[in-house]
Amino acid sequence: MSFTFVSDHLALDFAATMAWRTTRREELLARPEDFARWTVEAGVVDELEAVSQAELAEARALRESIYRLALAATERQPSDPEDVARIRQATTHPPVSLTLQAVGRVERRGGVQQVLATLAASASDLLGGPEHRLIRLCAGEPCTRLFVDRSQAGTRRWCSKRSCGSRMNAAAYRRRRDEMPT
Ligand SMILES: [Zn+2]
Repeated sequence: MSFTFVSDHLALDFAATMAWRTTRREELLARPEDFARWTVEAGVVDELEAVSQAELAEARALRESIYRLALAATERQPSDPEDVARIRQATTHPPVSLTLQAVGRVERRGGVQQVLATLAASASDLLGGPEHRLIRLCAGEPCTRLFVDRSQAGTRRWCSKRSCGSRMNAAAYRRRRDEMPT
């Protein structure tokens, strides 16, 4: 299974590891080793060993809180205090440690709790800061990915132009073609 990183934000890329949430839900963090692989591919930590089932459950719970709060932000809905508390709790641990080795090379070390603290800190920065207003839900139904719209004009509609953008444009083309009088 391959992961995608298209949301322009670490916390939302993490939230996207549950895909197609309103239709055929797809859990991309099915096994503990999936979470370990995601954290490395996301660049959070250099390696993550021995994730337990309980830690995987904790990671998923944190992810769901991030998704719910980010979605609520797009809908200008109030946030669930339990979700806020879960993210705050995760940041009570120290984050992944960064050690600069040379220009272009940094060592990122930590265990599961450090990784979760880093993800929670990323979510806190997004949800607590001004960028929460830039969170958008992908217009490519039934895609449920969230992203940060950093476009100058504030008109980004898709999580990814290549997947959702082209799929929706093709659908619009087919609609127009089918409506054409013969
Ligand atoms: Zn999408």
